[in-house]
Parts: sequence; C-alpha cells; structure tokens
Amino acid sequence: MTMTRTSAGRAQTAAPLTDDEKAAAGGARALIVVDVQNDFLPGGALAVPGGDEIIDTVNRLIAGFETVVLTADWHPAEHASFAASHPGRRPFETVRLDYGEQVLWPVHCVAGTPGAQFARMLAADAAALILRKGMHVSCDSYSGFLEADRRTRTGLAGWLSDRGVTEVFVCGLALDFCVSATAVDAAREGFRTQVVLDASRPINADPESLRRLEELWQEEGVGTVFSTELVHAA
Ligand SMILES: [Zn+2]
Repeated sequence: MTMTRTSAGRAQTAAPLTDDEKAAAGGARALIVVDVQNDFLPGGALAVPGGDEIIDTVNRLIAGFETVVLTADWHPAEHASFAASHPGRRPFETVRLDYGEQVLWPVHCVAGTPGAQFARMLAADAAALILRKGMHVSCDSYSGFLEADRRTRTGLAGWLSDRGVTEVFVCGLALDFCVSATAVDAAREGFRTQVVLDASRPINADPESLRRLEELWQEEGVGTVFSTELVHAA
C-alpha cells in the first residue's frame, strides 16, 4: 500500500476499498454495454438481427448510470477467430485452437475500421471506460473480463472493484455470445450480475438456444431484468 502525505500532514491512501468498506457504502452499480459496434448492426459484417433496435434503450440506461463501461471487439486483421485466417474454413464452422473450440466468424471489428466504431447513435461519450478486447491475434475474447484462453485478464474486474462497484448490469450485442460471456464472468468475479434483456439481442433467437442460455445464467447466478425496471421508458 502506498502512503503519501498531504501538506496538512494527513495520511492518504490509494488502496482499493476493503470488502467491509464497500458493504458499508452499499456498493455501487455499473452498466456494461457490450460491443454496440457497426459490424454487429444490420448491414455490418456480423450483423445481429435487430441489433439497431436496442440503441435507444441502451442510451436510456446509460443516462441512468453513474458508471458506464463500453466494451469493443477490436481485432487484428489476421485474427484467429476469422474464418479467413484458416485456409479452407468457412464462417460459423468450429476449429480447435490452443485454448479449445473456436467458432469461426466473418472478418469483423478490425481495429480502426468503420465496422469497429461504436454505433453512431450510441451515447458513447458518457462512458467512464472503453475496454477493447480480442486484441491478441491468437486468442478471442467474448467476455469483457477474461479472454478465451480463460487465463488472460482484461483488468475490468479490478477497475470496477477499485471504484466500489459490487453490482453490474450487462446489455448489448450479442446476447448469446459476448453479453452472456461477460455476465457469467462478472458473476464469477463476485459481482451481483443481471442481464438487461430488452437492451440486448441474440445472434440465434431460436427458443431452444435462449432456454439453454437462461439455464446457464441460473447455474451461474446471473439474473435477468428489463430496462423499465431500472429507468423510465421514454
Ligand atoms: Zn470478435
């Protein structure tokens, strides 16, 4: 712990809050908006059906939270998650990489390209943190907390904890991949976690797929909520 002295001679500390201090403070809430980027909107390289329909709702949520984190999928051009990086392979096939099974995707969210920019109407200026993920060429990261190798940490858990956050609400694109992975890891990191259903959209809207998702969230202690329970509808 680093101690410094002010001119008044009082000791100050930059240490994170202890669990007791956080509990006493009641804990803070944060909103995590996952990957609301052009390539995941209709017309984008990896469009999520209805992805653009959530933006107004997400913006209302953003306005209602003091701490907002935006994640962005941000890949090198030769990223291992791209089918184009594996000769003879097509998008949506699965390959085995060092860390396990990887779904192959069309080239998307290449760092610095228009497709990787946040949706134009997203209230991105309100974000306290923009966290880019999937930047390592040989490793994907659906989760905003832990990359696909399940070892490489993004630093998000520490950032939230340092700010006294104990509860997170997760929304964005796509519900069945990056939103779900981020929410599950948030719960595993000890945050009280809820997915905001109407501020998210899945790639696969098949009822069976959604049922499996809800089962997973239940096992992992992830709750669900609608935006109208958090902020007033327009
Ligand atoms: Zn990606």
